[in-house]
Amino acid sequence: MSALTIVPWVIGNWKMNPTGENVQTWTEQFNQLLQQQPISNESCHLAVAPTFIALSQVQHAFSQYNRTVHTVAQDVSRFPATGAYTGEVSADLLKDSHIQHVLIGHSERRELLGDHSEILRAKLTNALNAGLTVIYCVGESLTQRENGQAEQVVLQQVQDIASVVAPDQWASNIVIAYEPIWAIGTGKTASAADAQAIHEKIREGLSQITDSSAKVAILYGGSVKPENAKEFAACPDVNGALVGGASLNAESFYHIAAAFAQSN
Ligand code: PEP
Repeated sequence: MSALTIVPWVIGNWKMNPTGENVQTWTEQFNQLLQQQPISNESCHLAVAPTFIALSQVQHAFSQYNRTVHTVAQDVSRFPATGAYTGEVSADLLKDSHIQHVLIGHSERRELLGDHSEILRAKLTNALNAGLTVIYCVGESLTQRENGQAEQVVLQQVQDIASVVAPDQWASNIVIAYEPIWAIGTGKTASAADAQAIHEKIREGLSQITDSSAKVAILYGGSVKPENAKEFAACPDVNGALVGGASLNAESFYHIAAAFAQSN
């Protein structure tokens, strides 16, 4: 089963970058590029995930644009609502600040910050209860890939959240990002054929969980650049990209978005 026509997503993950001054330059440059050669809302969803402290600056800058660019939180608390949880930001507080999208399960958080499946389920539950759209990241390590376990690991990561996502929420509130860990920030990418093969398996796996599997956007992430974006965009089950390093440059990010918009 392959994807129905899904409007692609191109999402920039800025991680722990950049400074406020650079944020302003980025948003101005990106706006200029969009004005010179528009990318319509219908051809591609655009989104950027800055740090928590830059969310409102970015959100304000995007509100001046002629088209929608979503502002995405890079994480959300496992604790609900409000309360004595120093340093945390809940899904309800994100919603209150009009942040509608959140990344959950990025491999850096899984590996460096202890986000295991139980924590991820709690975060997801809170995000979905607040009506947020979740970009849920999955991906195997190099060792797992070399041991032939890539498919099994990734399908398990999807299965891990099945109990907390209602069948009708898959298409409306979940975007999956397949990010092989060995390809993140390393300059190595999965080949487009490898990405398509895993994406197809993810969609097959989803079909066991929800009737809406053909409507769930599955993004590829891992050293996507303007030079390779077209190859990924041409794959039927690659419905966009989660872009780290290359998203820090407005022009590179624009060209990746344009490649996906043109493929649609
Ligand atoms: C990421 O961290 O989500 C990512 C895909 O990074 P990069 O594009 O730098 O590999």
